[in-house]
Amino acid sequence: MRVEEVLNQSPPYVDIDLYASDRPLADAIAANGGGRDAAALSAFGNHWGSAEMFELARAANENPPQLKAFDPKGFRRDVIEFHPAYHQFMAESIAAGLAVSTWREDATAAPAPAQVMRAARVYMAAQIETGHLCPITMTRAAVAALAVAPPLVGQLMPKIMSRRYDSRFLPWWEKVGITLGMGMTEKQGGTDVRSNTTRAQPAGEGYGITGHKWFMSAPMCDAFLVLAQAPGGLTCFLMPRFRPDGSINALHFQRLKDKLGNRSNASSEVEFDDAFAWRLGEEGRGVRTIINMVQLTRLDCALASAGIMRMALAQAIHHARYRSVFQRHLVDQPMMRGVLADLALDVEAATALVMRLARAYDIAPSDPGEAARARLLTPAVKYWVCKRASGIIGEAMECLGGNGYVEESVLPRLYREAPVNAIWEGSGNVMCLDVLRAIAHDGEAARAALTALGEETADLPGAGAALAFLERGFSGPDVEAQARVAVDGLALLAAAAALRQSAPEAAALFARTRLEDRHGATYGTSRLAPEEARRLIDRAVPSA
Ligand SMILES: Cc1cc2nc3c(=O)[nH]c(=O)nc-3n(C[C@H](O)[C@H](O)[C@H](O)COP(=O)(O)OP(=O)(O)OC[C@H]3O[C@@H](n4cnc5c(N)ncnc54)[C@H](O)[C@@H]3O)c2cc1C
Repeated sequence: MRVEEVLNQSPPYVDIDLYASDRPLADAIAANGGGRDAAALSAFGNHWGSAEMFELARAANENPPQLKAFDPKGFRRDVIEFHPAYHQFMAESIAAGLAVSTWREDATAAPAPAQVMRAARVYMAAQIETGHLCPITMTRAAVAALAVAPPLVGQLMPKIMSRRYDSRFLPWWEKVGITLGMGMTEKQGGTDVRSNTTRAQPAGEGYGITGHKWFMSAPMCDAFLVLAQAPGGLTCFLMPRFRPDGSINALHFQRLKDKLGNRSNASSEVEFDDAFAWRLGEEGRGVRTIINMVQLTRLDCALASAGIMRMALAQAIHHARYRSVFQRHLVDQPMMRGVLADLALDVEAATALVMRLARAYDIAPSDPGEAARARLLTPAVKYWVCKRASGIIGEAMECLGGNGYVEESVLPRLYREAPVNAIWEGSGNVMCLDVLRAIAHDGEAARAALTALGEETADLPGAGAALAFLERGFSGPDVEAQARVAVDGLALLAAAAALRQSAPEAAALFARTRLEDRHGATYGTSRLAPEEARRLIDRAVPSA
């Protein structure tokens, strides 16, 4: 056989409509108020699923950004150079509204279904390229924290809302569009931001900030929400790259992190040398101010994780449909069918869960019950969905055999990307503690949210026992040590409830195999009948 002759390989999985080919997504969007705009989502899905976009994503990740700290004569530059493919992703996502479409010009929430429509697009974009979504996510989320400073909002919002990407290193007021980042984490503590040592002193029309941040991603953003110790305590600030007089602000990048994944995106270590910043909110209320941003970034972590899981699953099912082993397509081998169906069930659950959570954000402004649901479930959903990603993608990779382990397939990139959403914006344990905090601070609202989940899942197998377990699981002397068990159970019940609205058959299978009769440690161990498995697979990725 000549080397050019290729037998028994699957064709490339490109030129796909990421929306129309994803029935679980379309059903979740319809169930959460976004069904009327299916044509627009399909146009987005077609474009992002093109072979060209896959190729751009490869280029953006194979050519990571570089720090240019100094110019050839030794003058500070403090700029990052990105590959053109990265800039193209930024331009595409900004033009599609991913950084702003949930806001109005006055920084109030856009009407429903703005959250769900954006969530659908973020989920699809993440399947292709996740690194650039970091500044996109932070820009949209930062508006929630900026809202405490009306004069700044008035000046900045027209630039934030412009939907035009402007990568030039210029003062924000000279640019047609801007992006925002965030610097909280220091060497001595990321979770415990109260240990921040960076200092802020009132100076002129703002503050002078001196200190460091150990992680500050997307350093070419135009301004950053930064936490620092002011005379009145830990405070939130907005630090622009240029001072109001037009001179370059004193943000000095030390180096870029050499990261496991997320390689198209830059994450810096930075020093502030009396850098200028505006205060956001009162002194001493820094965590209170920035937490509004953090809730939204947590939602995006879950959305992006659901997206990369979906792409891994789709690649696995596609390959198994073409690859024959022992005269049978892999997809028809009983054990492989069980693995794919089990994966599809968790991916569909993650999709339904994140879209239902986005819906809660959509209606929270006018519905306290939905606000309580969003508060309770955001950390639980981030915990469960982001944690599932590594296992699902690893298993999907194995479905492609050796091909899956090779860089040219997208699986290694998805796999490297998976852990970061679990780590940043609050790691696993911190998410579980946040669920406990929600219950401790407003137990009545949290209990009402739990009761609602119970009612929505009342007819599903195992749901009653799951609810009773949760009612016990969030109390008692050992509550912190047991929090992972309880939060896992909460996420499973919420997933069953979300599926109940968008995909009743999947809801019943999910409840039977995850609530009533929990499956083994690996995928492919759930008790699914062959026909149930086949329907799950065909629903996840229709046959060509
Ligand atoms: C690629 C990347 C980009 C990042 N970009 C940014 C950025 O732009 N801006 C920014 O501010 N930060 C950024 N971060 C930092 C990130 O948010 C932190 O790493 C994260 O919040 C955890 O903080 P830490 O690393 O200090 O770990 P620690 O706070 O030391 O936590 C270590 C572990 O301990 C656990 N833990 C903490 N408290 C408890 C507890 N009470 N009980 C039990 N377990 C606990 C945590 O869950 C975690 O698993 C980035 C990180 C990465 C990896």
